[in-house]
Amino acid sequence: MYQAKAYSAASATAELAATSIPRRATTPRDVQIEILFCGICHSDLHAVRDEWNSVMPTVYPIVPGHEIVGRVTQVGSEVSNFKPGDLVGVGCLVDSDHDCPSCNNNVEQFCPDAVFTYNAPDQHGTAPVTYGGYSESIVVDERFVLKVPENLQLAGVAPLLCAGITTYSPIRRWGDIQGKKVGVVGLGGLGHMGVKFAKAFGAFVTVFTTSPRKREDALRLGADEVIVSTDPEQMQAQAGSFAFILDTVAAEHDINAYLGMLGLDGNLTLVGAPETPYAVSAFALLFGRKSLSGSLIGGIAETQEMLDFCGAHNITSDVEVIPIQQINQAYQRLAKADVKYRFSIDMASLK
Ligand SMILES: [Zn+2]
Ligand SMILES: [Zn+2]
Repeated sequence: MYQAKAYSAASATAELAATSIPRRATTPRDVQIEILFCGICHSDLHAVRDEWNSVMPTVYPIVPGHEIVGRVTQVGSEVSNFKPGDLVGVGCLVDSDHDCPSCNNNVEQFCPDAVFTYNAPDQHGTAPVTYGGYSESIVVDERFVLKVPENLQLAGVAPLLCAGITTYSPIRRWGDIQGKKVGVVGLGGLGHMGVKFAKAFGAFVTVFTTSPRKREDALRLGADEVIVSTDPEQMQAQAGSFAFILDTVAAEHDINAYLGMLGLDGNLTLVGAPETPYAVSAFALLFGRKSLSGSLIGGIAETQEMLDFCGAHNITSDVEVIPIQQINQAYQRLAKADVKYRFSIDMASLK
């Protein structure tokens, strides 16, 4: 075991502050990684403030961060896929049971024994719970370490490990969207990645937004058009014309309005999770044989595929890079959705 510098929160109301945390000595299957950048996901904020207490209560101190990119510093004796110096990533998962239907189908995120990167019981007993990426280093089983293409700008790679795979997976699974009309609801950390992926897969991409001032940015990110969702005329004009809509909004909104935008056999996939249940009109699904789905990050193989795709298409997240000392201000701004489109912590600032 060794000590690593990190930032943690001591309670739901405490600010994040510098600390040091135990990391396990590298086991034969482990990869030790020096963290270069870590993205700030909205989940980090929820977890630090214990806002998901009913589902997964936070154990303090918490070290958040599951959008990790770094360099391998050490590998265990049985590690075959990585060597010191390799550029790697770690996302929301650091382990699973490797032996259930989900694991066998490469969807480890649904494994009943999936171990999340932070705030999950630590199977190795290094600490009560796993500690995430707001740290100078991390030790992870090689099966949950991803290869990162060398040609990408690293600060913008970090958010691919959560925001990237969360949006890539449902778009990819839906099928061939080449030349089809695809909608992305919301233009935040998730939405801006959805636009980039849908465009890269050849779709005609429409952003639905409540704020007309996001129009220019949406077009810059690759959208072909923007619909202001609060304008009934703009919505009505394109009703029934979409093949697929990715809904990234975590605030309450009228989902039936978007179901109405879908054409025959159209699908709306949710990746945002409002607190209160949606009221879904059955008629909105019956007419046009439409479907409503959800999606949660992606498995390890698919996350690797996504990173390779990003390397080939030069896709990264639009980030604002901050030193870790500005983490609390960043959280305040994140709570107000005041970031374009993801914060990425430069871990050199922790040294
Ligand atoms: Zn996340
Ligand atoms: Zn499993």
